[in-house]
Amino acid sequence: MAPLTPHWKQPSHPDIQDVVINEQEFTSKSLSKVSLPPFGLYAKMDFPPCTLADKPTYATVQIDQDKHLNLNSDLLYINHSCEPSLIFDTANLNILAGPNGLKAGEELTFFYPSSEWSMDQPFDCLCGKPTCRGRIAGAKDMSKEQLEGLWINGHIHKLLELKAAEDAKLSGNGNHFVKADRRATEDPTAQALRDALKHAEKVVEAAQLALHSYIESAGSGYNGASASRRGPTSRELSGEMGGDTVLA
Ligand SMILES: [Zn+2]
Repeated sequence: MAPLTPHWKQPSHPDIQDVVINEQEFTSKSLSKVSLPPFGLYAKMDFPPCTLADKPTYATVQIDQDKHLNLNSDLLYINHSCEPSLIFDTANLNILAGPNGLKAGEELTFFYPSSEWSMDQPFDCLCGKPTCRGRIAGAKDMSKEQLEGLWINGHIHKLLELKAAEDAKLSGNGNHFVKADRRATEDPTAQALRDALKHAEKVVEAAQLALHSYIESAGSGYNGASASRRGPTSRELSGEMGGDTVLA
């Protein structure tokens, strides 16, 4: 985001945010002064300093289908990235660490189309990430694939669903109408945490499988007596027999 003349007292978030202005290049960025676990609360979008706005500007964040928020603070210096470090959870007015957590010194970024439907000032993203989406103009101009894998606010899911319904109607393709996305009606924070849980469950499952096959292969090298003793133990560990198996 281009530097702007702040009308608030700076720094507005001295304990958590370091704003770096490059006067030669007319650019700015923000670095974190804190470390947080995944989905930890970084900052609140509070009233004040936030005020409501009825249309998007370079200084607003969209919080509902037709509601925007003037941040009126240094939080405005948080740049876009296609692989962001932060989540702007606009339904709960929370700014959260992303799924990988946040480290002190890391650049503070969020994925603008996660809250913005149609941006006042589109731009070509130069984040340089392998998953860079290129032109960033808001979620309205992005495909489902381009938004995949990123945390997206509920109002954007709703607007995407309305647009899909409209597109289906226009193409006379009513029979292939896209089924209502469950995410559109669910609290996005709950959804993000559910995704994190699903991921954690997969890690546990993979570790169990690895342990199981390790014990199996280690067992095959031993004599019959120890292998038969090891057998039930490994099945028990992998959960096949429940936790209450009594070994003879
Ligand atoms: Zn990018």
